[in-house]
Amino acid sequence: MNSTVPTGGSATPTLDIDRSDPRYRAWLAEAVRKVQADANRSADTHLLRFPLPREWGVDLYLKDESTHPTGSLKHRLARSLFLYGLCNGWIRPDAPVIDASSGSTAVSEAYFAGLIGVPFIAVMPRTTSREKCRLIEYHAGQCHLVDDPRGMYEEAAALAERTGGHYMDQFTYAERATDWRGNNNIAESIYTQLRLERHPVPAWIVATAGTGGTSATIARYVRYMQHDTHVCVADPENSCFFDGWKDHDPAAYSETGSRIEGIGRPRMEPSFVTGAIDRMMKVPDAASVAAARALEQAIGRKAGGSTGTGLWSALKIVAEMAGEGRKGSVVTLICDPGERYLDKYYSDAWLAEQGLDITPYAAAITAFLATGRWSC
Ligand SMILES: *Cc1c(COP(=O)(O)O)cnc(C)c1O
Repeated sequence: MNSTVPTGGSATPTLDIDRSDPRYRAWLAEAVRKVQADANRSADTHLLRFPLPREWGVDLYLKDESTHPTGSLKHRLARSLFLYGLCNGWIRPDAPVIDASSGSTAVSEAYFAGLIGVPFIAVMPRTTSREKCRLIEYHAGQCHLVDDPRGMYEEAAALAERTGGHYMDQFTYAERATDWRGNNNIAESIYTQLRLERHPVPAWIVATAGTGGTSATIARYVRYMQHDTHVCVADPENSCFFDGWKDHDPAAYSETGSRIEGIGRPRMEPSFVTGAIDRMMKVPDAASVAAARALEQAIGRKAGGSTGTGLWSALKIVAEMAGEGRKGSVVTLICDPGERYLDKYYSDAWLAEQGLDITPYAAAITAFLATGRWSC
């Protein structure tokens, strides 16, 4: 394989097992059952309200994906990737599953690998938060750290080659492993939970993009169901997604890695489906951190940086709607918990080290919530 972006079935490892062997089929059936049973034991994630003055006529909701068993929206992705890999015959007994990840996917994949009893190796940037490494090792996964985040994919593919394992390749398979038409995916769940609200069909859903899988699932579902909803993707500083979307440039590239863990990529990922996205917004990293901290003041919960990126954009859209006298609802996501980033987004020392000044953005949010006027 000489392409850096494996497509179709090219990531299939060479299997030295007979796929019609009844022992393999029994193992496979048991593995699929265990993954399905995990979903069957789990409740849906909550749709929380972000408090806004009722007279604005605009309601803001947060789909709280931090309450999955592995603490992030990547629980959904990992479940889909394992089912896809198992049903395609790519994941086999005793062979490791390997993925390139900025952390959250690896935490969830380590959990599912443990569930079905195969080894797991995460290839991650050295800058990944220590807490995520701890969680991966807690689920008996191994962390393989690389200095250059752009070399993650090749390293993961090479490792799979050497070990006879399966390279999961979340950045290629996220969009196709997920059931976008329904099956209680994140979008269907949001619409079901909004049913009794005063504005049950949201005017906007704001997502962020790492693989692009979540925004692809939401946008496809909206179109498939013919809902009058627009989809916005909020992009952090060091990411090429915004430019690639705006200029229709699949070769868009960013030199530096994203500081907002989980989102913002240096290359246009195969799972980032640009044609389904109505709007994108570039969000300064300091604004993402300010919004994550404002969320804690508003609802008493700490969330990660990407939640702040999405919330910043959602608040801006609320301001536009309220300013134009348009009534309706807006939905964004709590992607993962802030406890994973106490030494980053919740550390003033880290902010100073990064040269990030959140004060103007924090002041803008405070002023907006008090007056309804957006100043940024
Ligand atoms: C992956 C991730 C996202 C974005 O989701 P995708 O479906 O991969 O685009 C947002 N926030 C966090 C914390 C993530 O890990």
